[in-house]
Amino acid sequence: MTTNALLTHDTIQLLHTAFPDLSRNDIEALVQAAQVRTFPANFDIFQEGDEGDSLFLLQEGEVHIVVHADDHQEILVDTLGPTRYFGEMAFLGETSRMATIRTKTECRVIEINETDFMSIARTNPSLLRTLMRQIIGHIRRTDRAVINELNLKNEALQEAYANLEAQEALRSQVIVTLSHELRTPLTSIRGYLGLINQGAMSGNSLKVALASITRNVEKIIGHTNDLLLLYEMHPKATDYEYINVPDILIEALNTARATMEAEAVRVTMDIAPDVPEIFADRRGLVLAIRALLENAFKYSPDKTPVAIRAYRDNGMGVAIAIQDEGIGIAEAEAERIFDAFYRLEKEGATHLFPGLGVGLTIAKFVVDRHHGRITVGSTPGAGSTFTIILPHRAA
Ligand code: ADP
Repeated sequence: MTTNALLTHDTIQLLHTAFPDLSRNDIEALVQAAQVRTFPANFDIFQEGDEGDSLFLLQEGEVHIVVHADDHQEILVDTLGPTRYFGEMAFLGETSRMATIRTKTECRVIEINETDFMSIARTNPSLLRTLMRQIIGHIRRTDRAVINELNLKNEALQEAYANLEAQEALRSQVIVTLSHELRTPLTSIRGYLGLINQGAMSGNSLKVALASITRNVEKIIGHTNDLLLLYEMHPKATDYEYINVPDILIEALNTARATMEAEAVRVTMDIAPDVPEIFADRRGLVLAIRALLENAFKYSPDKTPVAIRAYRDNGMGVAIAIQDEGIGIAEAEAERIFDAFYRLEKEGATHLFPGLGVGLTIAKFVVDRHHGRITVGSTPGAGSTFTIILPHRAA
């Protein structure tokens, strides 16, 4: 057979497979009208909105059917292989294409124009039925793909709203609690100051009054620090970027040291050389690490050393651990310390640790938003280690 004859033979075979109901004569008539064309990979045979009414039958290669949700977004509806056809929507009277057909690989197709095809289809009701079925199938698949895409968008939107709502709830809860928590120590200070001013305090009672004032001032300072943390918490983290881990550790450490007046505490930093950059919300992470560091300083009343470590975590990505040698946390409490306003304050304890109980809540909030984890390991009296584990790409 000559190349041409071979081509004709292949085309007959193909048309026969694609339209098994057609008679030999009709198939031969279609072969006469057919044009064989080849396209390179990743090429748009036609685009959504293009004028055109011919039918394409795929002989070799694969094509993607793509529709546009808007100017920027493409939705993949289906991928077709050999013996499948496209462009048949034209037979519904559509003169502009309803989808883009993009070659996935190099393709060989047979193109038949509408007039030639319809003159044969008109006398073949079964062919029209097959075409109709194919058209309906395409419309259904397009609908399904678009609906799926919309659902995905919807879920992302709902998550963003839930995030915002949770944060707003936390903020308003803090404001209510804070105003109450500030009023108590302030009322006590005012009471004692009134007595001192009247000259009613002396000797031992003056000592007691001053100790109480000092304790209450400490409390207010703790609340103010928490308030500042909360103020810096972003309602919506949109600015994700590639972050160098040592940089954010140093930034968080400098702020925490200043806030907690912990400049004299020995801090070691051990960063494994293979720690990768992470794609994350920089401000949020600094806030979370800062909250852990402030706690490490606060709950180490003897100013014992604090260790910061960063290393590659096998499963997830990067781990950041903050270890102190402070008072520690009883196992039974470890779960609840992440709850908003949960504080372990013991009556008559030797030390007063000021705070509202939101530092860990904020840290967990930020880490959750990065799809990471925060864990705690602790021995009462010996110290605690808080570890943040983050995926490489948290957005
Ligand atoms: P706050 O420190 O303001 O109370 P947090 O949410 O930061 O609020 O912490 C909640 C509680 O968890 C604290 O009250 C404290 O009892 C406990 N905690 C947190 N970090 C440590 C730590 N490094 N060592 C011991 N206890 C801690």
